Amino acid sequence: MNAPQTNVMRSRVVERLVQGQPTSDGAGVKLTRVLTQNLQRRLDPFLMLDAFRNENPEDYMGGFPDHPHRGFETVTYMLAGRMRHHDNTGNHGLLGPGGAQWMTAGSGLIHSELPEQEDGLMEGFQLWLNLPAKNKMIAPFYRDIPTEHIPEFSTEGGVTVRVIAGESHGVKGAVTRPDTEPLYLDVHLPAGGRFSQKLPVGHNAFLYTYRGEAIVGNEVGVEGGTGANGKAVPDRHMAILSNDEADGIAMAAIVPTRVILVAGRPLNEPIAQYGPFVMNTAEEIQQTLQDYRDGKFEAVKVQALEA
Ligand code: MN
Repeated sequence: MNAPQTNVMRSRVVERLVQGQPTSDGAGVKLTRVLTQNLQRRLDPFLMLDAFRNENPEDYMGGFPDHPHRGFETVTYMLAGRMRHHDNTGNHGLLGPGGAQWMTAGSGLIHSELPEQEDGLMEGFQLWLNLPAKNKMIAPFYRDIPTEHIPEFSTEGGVTVRVIAGESHGVKGAVTRPDTEPLYLDVHLPAGGRFSQKLPVGHNAFLYTYRGEAIVGNEVGVEGGTGANGKAVPDRHMAILSNDEADGIAMAAIVPTRVILVAGRPLNEPIAQYGPFVMNTAEEIQQTLQDYRDGKFEAVKVQALEA
């Protein structure tokens, strides 16, 4: 479907470029931690972004065996490869190319995320989105969203946009969430493509280039703009976008480019993280560790919602 170009009068600019840190997690899965703990305040309500892109099975085969979460949401978006997940109540699902899983850990669950392939490329992202204090202990649930259920549109200029969460150019995403009101877009720009997206003032926002090079800035992509003020966001870099009075973001590409664009309303609440648990206070983390030791996570019922 075609959607009209959204007019952004003034674009946010790149406040800072961040190159992720190579690390490994789970059972030896190599990944790039793009949004690290020291950026949680600046990018509130987002807590973490991992990018993984491994050709070599040795770098992903171990997957993420049984582990707990409490107090936030995990959003996994696959570009290539297949990942099977199981939770402590026996639910399971298969995440395939272009699909997403939106999991609200809430009061806590135990799950595994394991590759269901023995060769070939494994590529995607896992984003951690905080829950407001009032919802940290809600019952856990998840939704598997197969690729065909992720709304997609193309602009006249040939830009393709997949709307995982939030709304873009009048197209509602697969997921909408209260409180943090996340926007999560996968934007594919052809050579010479331009795209603009309205963003609420005060929402924290970033983009991550995973192919090509995005150019972000004041006049780029804006009707009649020259692109002269653009700042390049190279492959495998995150751009933290300025929080100012701008009404959105405008981007362009000289070469074929793909980015994810993520934004959300900050919670402005204290963040206490201990590994896979994210609460508001140290006392709540202590209680969480106690609950985990007492086996309370195993007893939890996890609801799987239809996509
Ligand atoms: Mn997990």
